[in-house]
Amino acid sequence: MSSQSKGVLTGNEALVRGFYEAGGLVAASYPGSPTVEVLETIKSYEGVYAEFSTNEKVALEVAIGGSFTGARSMAVMKHVGMNIASDPLMTFTETPIRGGFVLVSGDDPGMASSQNEQDNRLFAKFANMAILSPGNSQEAKDYTKLAFSLSEDFQLPTLLNITSRVCHSRSVVTMGEREEHAPTGFDLDPVKYAMIPKNTYQAQYFMKDRLEKLQEYAYDCPVNQLEEKDGATILVIASGLMYYNLKEIDPPVSIYKLGLTYPLSIKRIKELSEQYDEIIVLEEMMPFIENELKIHGIPCSGKSYFSFTGELNSEEIAEGLYKAGVLKKKIDRAEKTAAVARPPLFCSGCPHRPIFDILKKSKVKIMGDIGCYSLAAQAPFNGSSSIISMGASIGITKGVQKALALKEDPKPLVAVIGDGTFFHSGIPGFINLLHQADDKDNLTIIILDNRTTAMTGGQSNASSGHYNLADDMNIDIESLIKTIGFKQVVMVDQFKYDEAKKVINNEIKRPGISIVIATRPCALKYKIKEPHFYVDPSICIGCRSCVNTNCPPIRMKEYKDYDKLKSSIDANMCVGCSICAQVCPVNAIKRSESD
Ligand code: SF4
Ligand code: SF4
Repeated sequence: MSSQSKGVLTGNEALVRGFYEAGGLVAASYPGSPTVEVLETIKSYEGVYAEFSTNEKVALEVAIGGSFTGARSMAVMKHVGMNIASDPLMTFTETPIRGGFVLVSGDDPGMASSQNEQDNRLFAKFANMAILSPGNSQEAKDYTKLAFSLSEDFQLPTLLNITSRVCHSRSVVTMGEREEHAPTGFDLDPVKYAMIPKNTYQAQYFMKDRLEKLQEYAYDCPVNQLEEKDGATILVIASGLMYYNLKEIDPPVSIYKLGLTYPLSIKRIKELSEQYDEIIVLEEMMPFIENELKIHGIPCSGKSYFSFTGELNSEEIAEGLYKAGVLKKKIDRAEKTAAVARPPLFCSGCPHRPIFDILKKSKVKIMGDIGCYSLAAQAPFNGSSSIISMGASIGITKGVQKALALKEDPKPLVAVIGDGTFFHSGIPGFINLLHQADDKDNLTIIILDNRTTAMTGGQSNASSGHYNLADDMNIDIESLIKTIGFKQVVMVDQFKYDEAKKVINNEIKRPGISIVIATRPCALKYKIKEPHFYVDPSICIGCRSCVNTNCPPIRMKEYKDYDKLKSSIDANMCVGCSICAQVCPVNAIKRSESD
């Protein structure tokens, strides 16, 4: 895209443009919604080093290394990724910044695709960072550039706090020129950068001092703007998307729009509070700004009118403003049309399906993990009792097993974990399994090695190179697991259904710890399309065993000349994995001659 042109970009694409124009050189990420597209977009720009790292902690460390060398660097992650990255983050933020450093946190109000809804503004304050909160694509670009310059000017890492609606919605963006910021080299002063106790005490004062300077800057910072309305007695403080949603309603209030949401200029807001009868803070999720004002003795309200959870659209904001007495009339909510419920399904030919079909039939308790296979938690498989966070299934299963053993209630337990999650944070859990292992333990861990990070769209991970040489890592999980010290390790081809079923059931019965590695690749990333299957209605007895495998192309239908419903397969959707044919008790499902 040429400079000075305009384009319609998503928030994610626009922040990448900001990174590029700011002279960004190093970017690292772990894929996760709502920010997965950021790194994918950066890869289309030349002259930038970009990688999907093994997890968010490593991504942060790669970006820290870039910044230590004077390169403008960015780490990108979804909100829960900050939990993984927080260990290096909390110490990195004690050091001065060389190359501008931006941490992008994609927060997910309403949990559209996340296991929780955490407000990472709190995390950034905890870590002594500045926070910028863009509300549309132009701001995503402009604030990214500003984030780099604030980072260098005030010597602190900056959090770009972007929410899922802003990441994915599109608006017009004006492009600019790329600035050049060459790396300065790696010659750090250990007193400032080696965070041993002798040096960290001084670092506490350094952090305090730089935040106070930034607070002074916030007084008339260009991205904090007052919009006064004639006769208004109420001031609403809003940032990010909330400002734009508020503007749609156009209430009789003045607005103080915050682009720099931390630190706040308390001096400026105190002055404003003297001009208005009331201050209302409008923000999604936690009462972050509201609490900041209250801590500093500025009377205000906010969460008493607006929901503490979920997204706040214009209707919800209007309802809150009515409760607050700002709007005199209740705004009629648009009639909600009932959308047809369409629960997410495993894809056609997904290799996870036969595993969960086998486990469902074995009636064993399963601890799930984060990945596509978390879909198995819902009907018809009901195949995971718990899903907490990346890699957690292994430690949790061990704890359950040990607690049950104390109750003298030994039960076989199964944990499932994908390859991406295994590399992300599963490996320490596996190592810990061998600690105080007991022959009476009965754990079967199934590693669903589909060779990609499938849930976020098929990004490569450490074992993807097996199928695609361009993916340059091909770590062999079996060798790694054996090297850790596991003796009972078996490989299964889950498309050989009966064989896989026998192996898995044997391992579930076997006392001790068994590792089963399921070896089929993701059906979407590595499309291995075989001739499709079809149902011969003259043989089908309508038992629904095939339908119960829950593959999207299969359904029961009426056939001419048959009273009973029989199975059928949509040839256009079938990828020919053969699982349905293998579970059919009467061989009514056959492979077509060609596709
Ligand atoms: S062969 Fe059967 S299970 Fe496999 S994709 Fe086709 S319909 Fe689905
Ligand atoms: S499993 Fe076989 S017999 Fe049963 S419904 Fe499917 S095609 Fe028909």
